[in-house]
Amino acid sequence: MNLIPTRTNLDKMATSATTIQLEAKLEQALERNEFRLEYQPQIDIDNGAVAGFEALLRWQPKGAHDVSPWEFIPLLESSGLINRVGAWIIDTACAHWREWTERRLVSPEARLGINVSACQFAEGNLVQLLEEALRKYNLDPASIEIELTESAVMLDTHRTRKALRQIRRLGIGLSMDDFGTGYATMAYLRRFRFDTLKIDRSFIQRIRTKKKDLAIAMSMIQLAHILELRTVVEGVETPEQLASLRRMGCGVAQGHYFARPLPAGDIPDFLRDWRGIDGIPLALAASR
Ligand code: C2E
Ligand code: CA
Ligand code: CA
Repeated sequence: MNLIPTRTNLDKMATSATTIQLEAKLEQALERNEFRLEYQPQIDIDNGAVAGFEALLRWQPKGAHDVSPWEFIPLLESSGLINRVGAWIIDTACAHWREWTERRLVSPEARLGINVSACQFAEGNLVQLLEEALRKYNLDPASIEIELTESAVMLDTHRTRKALRQIRRLGIGLSMDDFGTGYATMAYLRRFRFDTLKIDRSFIQRIRTKKKDLAIAMSMIQLAHILELRTVVEGVETPEQLASLRRMGCGVAQGHYFARPLPAGDIPDFLRDWRGIDGIPLALAASR
């Protein structure tokens, strides 16, 4: 065996040392109030109204900058901490949602998307947490949507199927996140009942220049129509992308073109100041 540290080995050792340090910090992050949620608006592109929000987890360790969710969420998952943090996410997001619905800042049809990880199905008490939050904050279950990626349903165990059925029975919606990126998204679509398809950003990026990407995006939106599912397109960044999506009859869009994820405290002002999207005043929405 070659025990001489090579550049690759040293890089790997450095990476795992960083991972261990981050994991140790994550252990205390909840107690230290280092987590927060941001909310990214979702816009009905037919009428410019705010159709909902997605809650996104943020972590800022004391004295440091935000760590990317792509970096720390896998660590929360591998260490099992996601169950405790997931409970905090559900409670906090529902508390914010209660505030905005009670103050009538959002329309009664608007929805809040909450991301959940596979381990929350496998080990956690997800259904109980959701049930408790609905009761505690007196929320309309239909206004909440659980966002699942393929990895969350991939295990397809008895437990997962039971949890999905129970979530539906509570009246909460199910959304398939990153649709089109997994190996078996179509199979999951057959097996489970979803309410919403969230079409992944990667298909939208080049719809103006790549014929194939345009064709795939169009067929996904058509599929959603046929299956009577709502579509949310992720990662809309330009007016040209929005124009293409409008022509395809996509319902709801989310992306930096409309708004970046915002701190909870900024949402009331955002909702008060929101004037619809270019050329389509909100007044038109009201008259439809
Ligand atoms: P996701 O669920 O696909 O979330 C959408 C990601 O796209 C977010 O990244 C959002 O900030 C980003 N995004 C939105 N619009 C645009 C755009 O126009 N352009 C670009 N380039 N990006 C855009 P974020 O916040 O970094 O989150 C990354 C991932 O971390 C999420 O992907 C999700 O898988 C995971 N995540 C975030 N919050 C939670 C959570 O509360 N629980 C769990 N289990 N996972 C979460
Ligand atoms: Ca998501
Ligand atoms: Ca996504």
